[in-house]
Amino acid sequence: MDADIERVLLDRETIRRRVQEMGREIAQVYGNPGENRLDARAGVTLLPILSGSIIFLADLIRELPLMMKLAFVHISSYPGRSTQSQPHRTLLELTGDVAGRHVLIVDDILDSGRTLPIVQDAVQQRGPASLRTCVLLRKRGKAAAELKVDFVGFEIDDLFVVGYGLDFDDLYRNYPHIGVLRAELMS
Ligand code: 5GP
Ligand code: MG
Repeated sequence: MDADIERVLLDRETIRRRVQEMGREIAQVYGNPGENRLDARAGVTLLPILSGSIIFLADLIRELPLMMKLAFVHISSYPGRSTQSQPHRTLLELTGDVAGRHVLIVDDILDSGRTLPIVQDAVQQRGPASLRTCVLLRKRGKAAAELKVDFVGFEIDDLFVVGYGLDFDDLYRNYPHIGVLRAELMS
């Protein structure tokens, strides 16, 4: 795998430290360790957007000393790949408990900002107690400024990155760092 990576952007240790900090930032908003049962009726549900966010999710939740449930959302384009002549149509599948819960959407990367509002709207329609969004990576200056994201791990340049859950053609998700894939592999 290493040979396919042009350059490591964020190494494993840098990611680990930032995810730990994000855990503290998020825990401050949702409650203090030890007191986190107080809102048991409307507890916290983390909602990862599959599949890119799974590694981030696994590390993040172990930095969060909160009572929580997990729900899952999967979003796919249909039929097949969308083209410019064809409107972008999406199929969204959400499983788990979000109505009446404090929902935190967890995504790997915010790029153009097309995906996130679709998930945010779907959650809002189900009547959560609150809704916030957390992304590990955000590409500088790409998504509309109105797009609301509450927690961001790293701001990165507009490059195609893989690793730590992020894929190219469903590969490289297990690469432990976040790196830039060699351009010739993507053509
Ligand atoms: P958006 O809708 O914000 O343009 O894109 C969001 C989704 O596109 C991400 O959740 C991710 O699955 C994919 N994506 C965007 N940029 C990258 C990237 O640099 N690398 C990888 N592997 N996926 C990306
Ligand atoms: Mg992807």
